[in-house]
Amino acid sequence: MSTNRNLTRTYGHVEPEQRHALLGQRGAVVWLTGLSGSGKSTIAYALERALVSDRHIAYVLDGDNVRHGLNADLGFSPEDRDENIRRVGEAAALFAKAGVIAIASFISPYRAARDRARACVGADRFIEVFLDVSVDVCERRDPKGLYAKARAGEIKQFTGVSAPYERPDAAQVTLDTDKLDVDACVAAIVAYLNDQGSLQGPKA
Ligand code: ADP
Repeated sequence: MSTNRNLTRTYGHVEPEQRHALLGQRGAVVWLTGLSGSGKSTIAYALERALVSDRHIAYVLDGDNVRHGLNADLGFSPEDRDENIRRVGEAAALFAKAGVIAIASFISPYRAARDRARACVGADRFIEVFLDVSVDVCERRDPKGLYAKARAGEIKQFTGVSAPYERPDAAQVTLDTDKLDVDACVAAIVAYLNDQGSLQGPKA
């Protein structure tokens, strides 16, 4: 929150309905949360491809990528994790305001941080998708070899091993990626976006 009293808000002259008419979709944030290896990146990029193939504007904000740029100054302490998610929530909100379907792929282990992101975006535009799969399954997959390193003590504060993950209690979509394949997970999220009216253009 800014403490600079010399700042004032400015407002544009483009209404959300104009963007809706231009783009044929409403901006939204699909927020994927879950343990490392639960399938966030895989599903995020598959969803992005499915939406773009269907002529929608969608863009992935990925945890590892933003830590190379926007959040390169942050580590994995609870404070830095909160700041990581705060910035990404703000960035995702801007994408959604611009009319894009932003797909946020972040472990985001703390419920309060996810709730702040929801408040920043607006609850009606925020779709929390919980990839509900056990640590055991994630550890068996270990696509980046991170669990092995965490167990060996080479990575401190690793979510699910030595740092907590707070399960969502009211996610809009919950997917068990041990039972559903990637296509089924993508289809469930697209169905939610359709039901919610994000993917339809305005009435002629
Ligand atoms: P995260 O981004 O959550 O750390 P990744 O997407 O990098 O996870 O890795 C998930 C791994 O699980 C990949 O190797 C992927 O192929 C595999 N996997 C198996 N089933 C699924 C599924 N239904 N959805 C997503 N990933 C899956």
